[in-house]
Amino acid sequence: MSSLFPALEAGSERPALRFGDRSLTYGELRSAAAAVAARLDGAERVAVWATPTPETVVAVVAALDAGVPAVPLNPRTGERELTHIVTDSRPALVLAAPGDELPHALSGPERLDVTVGAAPAGPPPPPGPDDPEAPALVVYTSGTTGPPKGAVLPRRAITATLDALEDAWAWTSDDVLVHALPLFHVHGLILGVLGPLRRGGSVRHLGRFTTGGVARELAGGGTMLFGVPTMYHRVAEALDDDPQLAKALAGARLLVSGSAALPVHDHRRIAALTGRRVIERYGMTETLMNTSVRADDVEPRTGSVGVPLRGVGLRLVEEDGSEITVYDGETVGEIQVRGPNLFTGYLNRPDATAAAFDGDWFRTGDMAVRDADGSVRIVGRRATDLIKSGGYKIGAGEIENALLGHPGVREAAVTGEPDPDLGERIVAWVVPVDPSLPPSEPELADHVAAQLAPHKRPRSVRYLDVLPRNDMGKIMKRALHG
Ligand code: ATP
Ligand code: MG
Repeated sequence: MSSLFPALEAGSERPALRFGDRSLTYGELRSAAAAVAARLDGAERVAVWATPTPETVVAVVAALDAGVPAVPLNPRTGERELTHIVTDSRPALVLAAPGDELPHALSGPERLDVTVGAAPAGPPPPPGPDDPEAPALVVYTSGTTGPPKGAVLPRRAITATLDALEDAWAWTSDDVLVHALPLFHVHGLILGVLGPLRRGGSVRHLGRFTTGGVARELAGGGTMLFGVPTMYHRVAEALDDDPQLAKALAGARLLVSGSAALPVHDHRRIAALTGRRVIERYGMTETLMNTSVRADDVEPRTGSVGVPLRGVGLRLVEEDGSEITVYDGETVGEIQVRGPNLFTGYLNRPDATAAAFDGDWFRTGDMAVRDADGSVRIVGRRATDLIKSGGYKIGAGEIENALLGHPGVREAAVTGEPDPDLGERIVAWVVPVDPSLPPSEPELADHVAAQLAPHKRPRSVRYLDVLPRNDMGKIMKRALHG
């Protein structure tokens, strides 16, 4: 058994996982994973049909133990994307829970059923590989800006990031994580499952996110909640009518948001109604976690993703290649990072890998400013969130936050559109609270201009019923203009 999970190695009656009414102790997880690991011998790479079940965790832990890189697959993904991932990663086996139906795209690799609970207390698990550079997981990016790319993650990146989070969040074996995220990305799998297992704590997975489930699990012993902004938005909306939810959140040790920016409006609402602030962390599939607001930080860091994690080097680089050295909270640069948390490269994409690095610095494509104390505020992605209009560089995020502060706006996204005079013009995409009575275009434009600056006024407003989002709740801006 690998040194990734000392508590698992020890095996014990301590609770490790709970999915609905199914629970596994560390001892049970250890023997189930050992039985599966023994059957992976010699495989070059395996895929895991990553449903929110104990079988997925057993499969991933087994692959880590066997030293066989695992590719977690999104069970809700479309046939086309799945074909892309399977063709790219060529898994020898697909690990799935017994009963799960696999789509046509997975008919090539052999299927291996993962069983939980039936494993006899057999021989001790294999020792597991020690090489920190050995590839442990191949995780595909979310596909927000283009077809997903397979990030090859060595064991060292996983341990480095989880241990840096232990430091930033004072994460211990007493923590019980309330989890409702999917298990095929960094957030839900590496932070949400491997994190608690490395600490020797436990996970309670809701299966499907509901605010009632969050309230129940936090009130019943959960200490931490990890979520994406869409979840915290639903929490914020539900708080008014749900005193139990407010009480449960108030009692939690740590509420963490990530994967996309948490709108200021939701931050403030949750803080006002629970007395607790959500802390944000910033990461990527390729780099795992880069920054976080620290658990012991006393400042309210609304709109900030905090400071670089232990071991992470972070710099902001301007378009002309110069590094920003004076942090004024205003000068925007691209975030570049280096450290033990980084991936080793994209699978089968040497060109994309080379293009992503400047020496050992990884170019994130995310734009940010730093405050005088070094904390980082993300402005948005260079490709979709930085609008160059009339000689100004404008971040979509602050305009989105301003729009969300209007009582008639439920959801908002801001993009730039080619304009002969301005270079780009600001377009606001708005989901109104009441579709029969949407706030008018001039009203919204004035609302933004009054809060920000005249040049940040949207030139047109387009009304939608919903915003296009992926499975992590991220807004797919490339689908807006299509
Ligand atoms: P693709 O790379 O395939 O286009 P993606 O970038 O969405 O998809 P991920 O690796 O899952 O794939 O997401 C990383 C990105 O998510 C970051 O580059 C950043 O833009 C965004 N992100 C993550 N956390 C935060 C945060 N706290 N605030 C703002 N943005 C965030
Ligand atoms: Mg990306």
